[in-house]
Amino acid sequence: MAWDFQTEPEFQQKLDWMQHFVREEIEPIDVLFPGGAAPYDVKNPETRKLVAPLQAEVKKQGLWACHLGPELGGLGYGQLKLALMNEILGRSTWAPSIFGTQAPDSGNAEILAHYGSEEQKRRYLDPLLAGEIVSSFSMTEPQAGSDPGEFRCRAIKQGSEWVIRGEKYFSSNSVLAEFLIVMVITDPDVPVHQGASMFLVPKDAPGVHFVRRSGLGIEPLGEGVHGYIRYEDVRVPEENLLGEPGQAFHIAQTRLSGGRIHHAMRTLGQVKRAFDMMCERSLSRRTQGEPLSRKQSVQNVIADSFIEIEQFRLLVLYTAWLIDQGDKRRARTYVSAIKVRTPAIMQDVVGRALHVHGALGCSNEMPLAHMWMTAPVMGIVDGPTEVHRVQVARDVLRDYKPSEGLWPDEYLPHRVDAAREKFAEVLEAHVGNL
Ligand SMILES: Cc1cc2nc3c(=O)[nH]c(=O)nc-3n(C[C@H](O)[C@H](O)[C@H](O)COP(=O)(O)OP(=O)(O)OC[C@H]3O[C@@H](n4cnc5c(N)ncnc54)[C@H](O)[C@@H]3O)c2cc1C
Repeated sequence: MAWDFQTEPEFQQKLDWMQHFVREEIEPIDVLFPGGAAPYDVKNPETRKLVAPLQAEVKKQGLWACHLGPELGGLGYGQLKLALMNEILGRSTWAPSIFGTQAPDSGNAEILAHYGSEEQKRRYLDPLLAGEIVSSFSMTEPQAGSDPGEFRCRAIKQGSEWVIRGEKYFSSNSVLAEFLIVMVITDPDVPVHQGASMFLVPKDAPGVHFVRRSGLGIEPLGEGVHGYIRYEDVRVPEENLLGEPGQAFHIAQTRLSGGRIHHAMRTLGQVKRAFDMMCERSLSRRTQGEPLSRKQSVQNVIADSFIEIEQFRLLVLYTAWLIDQGDKRRARTYVSAIKVRTPAIMQDVVGRALHVHGALGCSNEMPLAHMWMTAPVMGIVDGPTEVHRVQVARDVLRDYKPSEGLWPDEYLPHRVDAAREKFAEVLEAHVGNL
């Protein structure tokens, strides 16, 4: 009977070390250099001075870029251990970069490790894994995001080259990236899931034109690291096709499953931080002669948040475990399920923590308002909630069939008849003995 919720002691030691290291050494950098994009600016000499020694320490501990499997030169921890690590890293904006596991570079590294040529690995994967460069994943288009059937960006083979033409929107970190992994249509005559391919495009390739930078909510217009890019007849050699033509969705799926779990656990790290703040505040702030923690409404939100956090954590860890077991079909349903819950738990728990802090919670003197604004983003990034809900429902319904005839299988008059028939002999004997 293998049903165990414990972490093996050797790995727990690593997690304990990470916990301490993130809080004591990395979180102070979050405060000095805030903003989600700051860790991706790997050419900034000021932050490099602080970050490089910390990265060296992580490498010394054997915890650098743990997302790659052993066949790809990584440690092969598997998703469950990575999930536990990401829960700790999620507390901090800088931590993922200091552990060499920041999105989208972690996923892009996996793609390159699987499908890149030796030369591409030397030129892009090695510096990416060393944290010397960053990359971008370029799929969403200005007119279409969640429905790839509307994508228009095309690549056409000309001799030994592919020529890419079209536009991409919200390619994160493209502004800072050394290269982009671009998803384009190579065969418009088949359904998009069979007709899209992935290409490695160096950012300095002629024809890669930045229309503008997009940012998130509070960033000033014209700033931000999400590029609106026009690919104007960008020519790449045929070896820049990653995998086979038409394989883009298959490749993306490999990359996204783990990525979504890491996202969810990092969100959980943030949510738990907000929960800690809520508990501390409720014990510290007094009203009507008693701490807030004595008010039943505050106890309610603490209890609800605790329950939701624990439920979500178990769901994510179970999903990670499913992937480690190689149960891809079931894992897909669960990955979508956690994708649906991620923005909701962020919005609910962080929102409650903010509310319990009153004006201070709304202010720019606590991290809560900023954290809360990321909740809606979580509901969009990697596909909107609705799409994942539909995926869950479709997968679930595959295990069911319609009832035969007019009435449901659980229709009580039929069940009573069937039960009477099943036990007819006993029932008759009972009646006969009366
Ligand atoms: C912070 C951030 C970073 C991002 N980074 C990248 C990146 O690096 N690379 C990249 O390629 N893209 C990136 N994106 C884009 C992201 O992948 C898309 O925003 C996402 O896929 C949704 O596409 P859309 O914005 O075009 O929304 P749309 O497809 O226009 O959807 C808008 C809304 O319509 C509704 N809707 C859509 N489809 C359905 C449906 N089937 N059923 C019911 N309702 C539906 C939903 O309410 C949805 O929220 C990023 C986005 C954000 C916010």
